[in-house]
Amino acid sequence: MKTILIVGGAGYIGSHMVKMLMRSGYHVVTLDNLATGYRDAVSGGDFVFGDTADKLGLDSLFSGYTIDGVMHFASFIQVGESVQHPSKYYQNNVAATLNLLDAMVAHHIPALIFSSSAAIFGEPAYTPIDEQHPKQPINPYGLSKWMIEQILADYDQAYGLKSVCLRYFNAAGADPEGQLGERHEPETHLIPLVLQAASGRRQAITVFGQDYDTPDGTCIRDYIHINDLCQAHLLALEYLFQGGNSTAYNLGNGSGFSVTEVIEVAKQVTHKPIEVVMGERRMGDPARLVADSKQIQTQLGWQPQYADLATIVAHAWQWETRT
Ligand code: UDP
Repeated sequence: MKTILIVGGAGYIGSHMVKMLMRSGYHVVTLDNLATGYRDAVSGGDFVFGDTADKLGLDSLFSGYTIDGVMHFASFIQVGESVQHPSKYYQNNVAATLNLLDAMVAHHIPALIFSSSAAIFGEPAYTPIDEQHPKQPINPYGLSKWMIEQILADYDQAYGLKSVCLRYFNAAGADPEGQLGERHEPETHLIPLVLQAASGRRQAITVFGQDYDTPDGTCIRDYIHINDLCQAHLLALEYLFQGGNSTAYNLGNGSGFSVTEVIEVAKQVTHKPIEVVMGERRMGDPARLVADSKQIQTQLGWQPQYADLATIVAHAWQWETRT
């Protein structure tokens, strides 16, 4: 049985990944500092409380376990905060990630799946965005991800560390079985905020800008179900285990929905009124971000199972209304 280290396994995406890997017959070790994650979201395997900033801790973890591959989900993700506090983002998302890479090299662990982001592309030159699209991140968050992608290319060339970078568009939804879901504090993502407005946990949803160059004036995003995202990680890991070369894939459904459309779908799914407040644009939001994910489909055989936005919202609603 192969052992996979999930760095950030107590977070939103990491916790779904832990569950999927265990279902797929892997032994899982989670490393998490619980800064934004939850211990009770880690549904099995071993849990190590710790931080990638701690080099000695990483060394003892890799000495104590025989790790076959690593998935790295532990990063800060708020674009606005990254503009205000770039140090926090470069320290954690870049410097601490380097510690992890160096520990992997020192312990001869050859396979890494890295959580990258559509934020590496910056303002889109064209959509849908394919892998070749220019990389011109417009905030420290996006730049921190792009830096690691470039560092990984050098680490492969020099040390033979193989990696797959997955550039997420908008991860959304929740475990179809209702066991796990999104628990960001504070929550900043559209779908959970809309559903909080539907359940009454929040009074209203504020739409950030209605004057974008889109059919209804609100921003368009590509929402991808969390389980489809995790499925892509599993395929990428198996690809590396079979001797695949380092690469990067864009990961989305390939169809865009506006903020207004998301709210409409949420009304249909929840059968609840949702109070909408029209607000100002949020800084750094491109009008339209849609992925071209043909490459991962043709090369790894990835197929989204839950591409329908109503299904994504329904699973998130099941989580929002859990008792
Ligand atoms: N959004 C919004 N109101 C909110 C949160 C988000 O109108 O309270 C918009 C945001 O401007 C963007 C889209 O919803 O166009 C998705 O935002 P989210 O923060 O979920 O993901 P991002 O695209 O920033 O990764």
